[in-house]
Amino acid sequence: MRIRTKIALIYTQLTFFVMLWAFAFVYILMIRNTEEVFYDLLWKRAMITAHYNFEKDEMTESAYQDVVERYNQKLMGESHEIINAHDFYEIDSLKNMIPNENDLQMLLNGKTIEYRMGDRQYLGVYYPDNEGDFLVIVSAHDTQGAESAKNLLKLLTIILIITTIFVYMIGEFYAKKIFSPIVKIIKNVKSITASNLKSDLIEEKGNDELSELSRTFNDMILRLRDAFEMQNSFIRNASHELRNPLTAIIGETEITLNKERTPKEYIETLETIQYEFERLNNMIRDLLSLAQTGYDFSRVDKKQVDLSKVVEKTCYNFKGAEINMDIPEYGKYEITGVESLLVHAFTNVIGNAIKFSKGQPVDIKFSREDNNYKISVTDKGIGIPYRDIKNIFQPFYRAGNTATYKGTGIGLALSYKIVDLHNGKMEVESEEGNGTTFHMFFRIN
Ligand code: ADP
Repeated sequence: MRIRTKIALIYTQLTFFVMLWAFAFVYILMIRNTEEVFYDLLWKRAMITAHYNFEKDEMTESAYQDVVERYNQKLMGESHEIINAHDFYEIDSLKNMIPNENDLQMLLNGKTIEYRMGDRQYLGVYYPDNEGDFLVIVSAHDTQGAESAKNLLKLLTIILIITTIFVYMIGEFYAKKIFSPIVKIIKNVKSITASNLKSDLIEEKGNDELSELSRTFNDMILRLRDAFEMQNSFIRNASHELRNPLTAIIGETEITLNKERTPKEYIETLETIQYEFERLNNMIRDLLSLAQTGYDFSRVDKKQVDLSKVVEKTCYNFKGAEINMDIPEYGKYEITGVESLLVHAFTNVIGNAIKFSKGQPVDIKFSREDNNYKISVTDKGIGIPYRDIKNIFQPFYRAGNTATYKGTGIGLALSYKIVDLHNGKMEVESEEGNGTTFHMFFRIN
C-alpha cells in the first residue's frame, strides 16, 4: 500500500472514531433528555388521573369538567393503575408491574418512581387523599421520542458515512500533494546515470524536510558529478602523461635509427631514453602508490608513530638542502599511522618546497592548533598562481608556472590522500612569486 493511502486511511480512521464518539455522546444525551421530558408528561398525566378519580367532590363543576377534558387527551397507548396503598393483595400483584423491589419500596414510602419496561415508560406516584392513600402508575409509549431518536440516528449515520468518505478523499488529495515532491525526487533519481549527471537538479523550494531531502540529493549529485569529472580528467591526464615519455622514446629511437650514428650520438640517445624511462618509472610508481591508498585503510597495519621523528628522518634524504626545523616538544607528536606512507607524503611536500624554490631555505614548523598537530612547510619559491590553487591537490594537475620544472603532478595528490587517510587535512597558502606554505593537520588521538 502506498504511504499516501496509508496516511489518508489513518487520518480517516481518526476522524471516524472521534466523530463516532461525539455522535454517540450527542445521541445518548438526546435519548436521556427525551425520556426526562416524557416522564414530566407522565407525571402530569398521573396528577390528572388522580384528580379525575379522587377530587370530583372537592372541585367546582367547571374545574372538574376541565380535568375531565384533559384526562381524555390521552398519550399514545396510555394506561393507568390506581391501587390502594394499604391493600396488600393488590400490592402483591403490583410486583409484576414494578420489577425492581427497591422501586416498589420507594413508591410505598411516598416517593415518585420512573422506570422503563420494553418500549414503555412508567411513572408511579404516591397520592394521599381523604379517601385513602393511593398509588397511581401511569405508562405510555413515547412514539414521538422514539421517532425523533430513530431520525437522529439515521441522520448521524449518514453524516458519519459522508464525512468519512469526504475526509478520506481530502486526505488522499493532501497526501498526494505532500508526497508529490517525493514522487518527483524518485523520478529524478531514477533517471540519474553516470553519463547524465549534468542534467537538471531536483527542485528544492521551501524549508521543510522534503526540501531538505532534495537538497541532500542535490549535494550528493554534485559530489558524484565532481568525482566523475575528477575521474575522467584523471584518466585523460594519466593516459596523456604516460604516453608522453613513450612517444619521446619512440621518436628518439626512430630518428637515431634513420642512419649510422657516432658512438657519442648513440650515448646521447640512450641517455634520453634512460631519462624518459626513469620518468615513466617514477610516474608508474607514484600511480601505484596512489592506487594503493585507495585500499581499505582500516585493514592496513598501523602503529604509533611520532610525526616529528618521521619528518626529521625524511629530511635526511634531502642532503645539501637547507631545511630549518622548529619542533617545540620534539618527540611528542604521536599519531596512529603507517610510517612508510607518511614518509612518502612528507617527501613530496618537502621535495616540492626545495624544487620550486631552487634550493632556497625551507622552514618546517611544528605546533598544536585546536585538537590537531600542525606541520607547516614554507618555502620562498615561485608560489602557485591564484587560479591554480583550487585544483592543486588533483592528480596530474600542475600549475601554469612549472613548465621548466620536472614533475608528474601526482606527488601532491598522493600526499593529500595519505594525510586524509590519517584523519588529517592539508591546506595551502601561496602567493605567486613569493612562496608557498603547506599546512598538514593531524588529529591528536
Ligand atoms: P610535481 O610533480 O609537478 O611536483 P606535485 O603533485 O608534487 O607535482 O605538485 C603539483 C603541483 O603543485 C606542482 O606542479 C606545482 O604547480 C604545485 N606545487 C606544489 N608544491 C609547490 C611549491 N612548494 N611551490 C610552488 N608550487 C607547488
